[in-house]
Order: sequence, then C-alpha cells, then structure tokens
Amino acid sequence: MHKQKVVILGGGVGGIVIANHLARLLPRENEIVMIEKNDKHSFAASYLWLMINKRTPQQITTQLRELVDKRVNILFEEIKQIDAESKTISTEKSKINFDYLVIALGAELDKTHLDKQQYGVHNFFTYEGAAKLNDDLQNFKGGNVTIVISSLPYKCPGAPYEGAMLIADFLKNKKLHNNVTVNLYTPEPLPLPVAGPELGNSVKEVMLSKGIGFYPQNQLTSVDYNKKKIEFTFGNPIAYDMLVVIPSHKAPDVVIKSGLVDESGWIPVNKDTLETKHNNVFAIGDVTSITIPGRWQPDKPMKLPKAGVFAHSQAFTVSEIIASKIQGKESKEIFCGDGFCMLEVGEDLAGFAYGDFYGSPHPDVKLKRLGKIWHWGKVLFEKWWLAPIGFRKNILQSLLKIGSSVLKIPAKL
Ligand SMILES: Cc1cc2nc3c(=O)[nH]c(=O)nc-3n(C[C@H](O)[C@H](O)[C@H](O)COP(=O)(O)OP(=O)(O)OC[C@H]3O[C@@H](n4cnc5c(N)ncnc54)[C@H](O)[C@@H]3O)c2cc1C
Repeated sequence: MHKQKVVILGGGVGGIVIANHLARLLPRENEIVMIEKNDKHSFAASYLWLMINKRTPQQITTQLRELVDKRVNILFEEIKQIDAESKTISTEKSKINFDYLVIALGAELDKTHLDKQQYGVHNFFTYEGAAKLNDDLQNFKGGNVTIVISSLPYKCPGAPYEGAMLIADFLKNKKLHNNVTVNLYTPEPLPLPVAGPELGNSVKEVMLSKGIGFYPQNQLTSVDYNKKKIEFTFGNPIAYDMLVVIPSHKAPDVVIKSGLVDESGWIPVNKDTLETKHNNVFAIGDVTSITIPGRWQPDKPMKLPKAGVFAHSQAFTVSEIIASKIQGKESKEIFCGDGFCMLEVGEDLAGFAYGDFYGSPHPDVKLKRLGKIWHWGKVLFEKWWLAPIGFRKNILQSLLKIGSSVLKIPAKL
C-alpha cells in the first residue's frame, strides 16, 4: 500500500488527542505531521484556578513536544494558507502536501477589550489575562465587579459562570464581601442554554445563593474605558470598578480565507464523521459549526458548544475513520454527541453535567448534585493532561476504568 501523509493543523486539545491516537493506530510507514505556531501548551480549564491564585503559570504550562508521541513530526510554524483543493498547506517557511487533513485550529479571541488592564478591564480566557486578573484580584480593595459575555458563541459554555462564582468566593475569602458586588451580564436567556432550562436554572440558583447578580438577555454595545462604564442594547449605562470581559470569538483568519467556512463564520462538517465538504479533509473542535436539535431563540438554530470535551472525542472518531480508510477497512465509527462538564462553583465544589447533545427534540443534559468528587475529578484530569506522553499512557487506562465505573459513562471519553 502506498504510504499516506496525515497533516494536523493546530496542537491544542483536538490536535494533541488526534496526533497521539493516530500514532497508535496507523502502520509505521505512514507519516503524521502536526503544524502549530506555539511551542508551549497551557491547559485552558486551569486558567480559572490561575485567576484565583490556586495555580502558578508554571503549573499549567508545558512544552507541546512533551505531550505528543515522538512519532509525530511537529512543525512549529504559523499556517498562512489552507488549500483543500490542491491539498497543500503553506506556512511562513514551508509548503506541505497531505493525503488526509485534520483542521483543529480552535477559535480566536477578538482583541478589542484585551490588554486594557490599566482601565480595570480584564479577561480570563487567555493565559496572560488570567495571570493579570489574579494580580488585580489580590490587590482589589472593593467595589463593583462586572462580568460580561460580549457575544455568542464562546468556548466552554460553563466558564463565565464558573469564573463569576470563583471570583465571588475569592473576594469573600479576602473578607471583602460586604464591600463587593459581583454581577454577570449575558445575551443568553439562562446559563448554558444549550443544555436546557433544568441545568440553566440550577446554575442560576447556585449563583444567586452566592449573592451574584444575573442579568440575562443583555447585549454589550460599548465600553467607555475612561469613565468606566458599559452600555447594552437596552437600558442605562452601568458603572464598574473591575470589568471582566468574555471576548468575542471567531475562526482564525487563515480558516476564514480558506473558503471552508459558511455564513456562521465556522467550518460546517458532517455531524457524524466531521468531514468537511472536501473528501478526506476533516475539522474538529472549536473551529467547527454543528447544528443540533432544538432552538433557544426562534431565529437561531442550536449549535454544538465549543468545548474541549467535544474536541477530544471528535479527535477519537476522526482518527479511527482515517486509520480505517488508510488500511482499506470500513469504519463504523461516528461521533455520538455525548459530552460532560465539571462545573466549578467555588470552595472546591463542582457539579457534573453529562448528556447527549444530539438528543432530540433538544439536548438531554443533567446536572448531578454538587460535590467535592467532581472538583477532584477535574484536578486529576488536569494532572493527566499535562503529564509527559509516556507517563500519560501508563495511567490512562486505570484512570478511565475508575472514571467510567464511578461516573457510569463510556470508558472511551
Ligand atoms: C477559561 C476556559 C476554561 C475552559 N474550561 C473547559 C472545561 O472545563 N471543559 C471543556 O471541555 N472545555 C473547556 N474550555 C474550552 C477548551 O479549552 C476548548 O474548547 C478547546 O481547547 C478546543 O480545542 P481545539 O483543539 O478546537 O482548539 P485549541 O485547543 O484552541 O487549539 C487550537 C490550536 O491552533 C493553533 N493555531 C491557531 N491558528 C494557528 C495558525 N495560523 N498557525 C498555527 N497554529 C495555529 C493555536 O495556537 C492552538 O494551539 C475552556 C476554555 C477556557 C478559555
């Protein structure tokens, strides 16, 4: 059989998982290349702990090379062009041909409100942002902390809510709670609307019990940095002392220019196989747009959330499909839309939401009772994710066995 070359664009969550899984599945003569612009990898879920001083930057960062099977050739270069027709990728240094392509380039953050810390404007969706927010939270003397989701979609539908609860707890532990208000504004009708009203109302209740104000259906229109005021489509301007913005998200420019995106601005894919409109060109993770059953606004179809857990399981599916194709076998593997999330609520407690996001007539997602076990589950996953590849392989099986029997979910996740 003629040797095949699989090229993976992006070395984030989806890219790392697919590279390692393909390295296990593909016969040696086939080539696996990953292209990633950053040689360091940081674990995004831990930015929340970095923000509240529970992690140091070093604890949540490692060299990407340490996390990826030695068999995978990693090019640390910036991708400048994706040509799916001619099966060529261009970087600032090289031109690379492929037989199979996996696009795992994630979502890019709008920079408008980033690097505005001198105006009391922060974010915890970047590594640098979370570290700077930690400094300012430690020095905060009291006032109004306003958290604003600037637009939809954004990655990790639970993260802004977790952030609000962790900030409120952090300030409470600083004995500032009588002198602080924490409010969250969002264009959404409820927290995590994609997961249905039951889960949204549970999260809202936990937030309210912590004294956090929740203001749904508010679309941010502008920020006046000098006057420290924000405006929404409706209502009067709101004054803030500290503003924490969840920035707008979009697909990376190189993806937008590739002709692979649709009117949503993201790459539409087959919901079962993750294949794009081009044969043997797949896209996984945050860069994709997958319509799921249900609507939370009359004119807007529901989309699969952007979350690491989906990038992870889609990477499994696509690696099985590519490995089967290369070996001339039929693959029955499909991505089933199951997902879960450990939602941090502070005081080392977390909730566990699990469900079928492809469920009809709408996603079927349940929140288990808050407990320390979910928090420690997330910590364990963080340690496993950041461990060097050799060590990961050894502990993976035992972790999956324990996890699947305690959580009663498929061991593959
Ligand atoms: C604060 C926070 C908390 C989160 N918590 C959770 C959680 O608890 N659970 C969960 O499931 N998800 C969580 N997420 C979301 C999760 O991190 C993302 O959904 C996940 O990383 C998506 O994986 P991906 O592979 O699609 O993209 P990414 O992991 O973002 O990887 C994309 C990669 O592409 C690279 N890249 C982009 N453009 C180029 C280019 N032109 N050239 C070369 N390389 C390029 C980037 O450098 C990056 O490494 C959280 C996110 C945040 C911000």
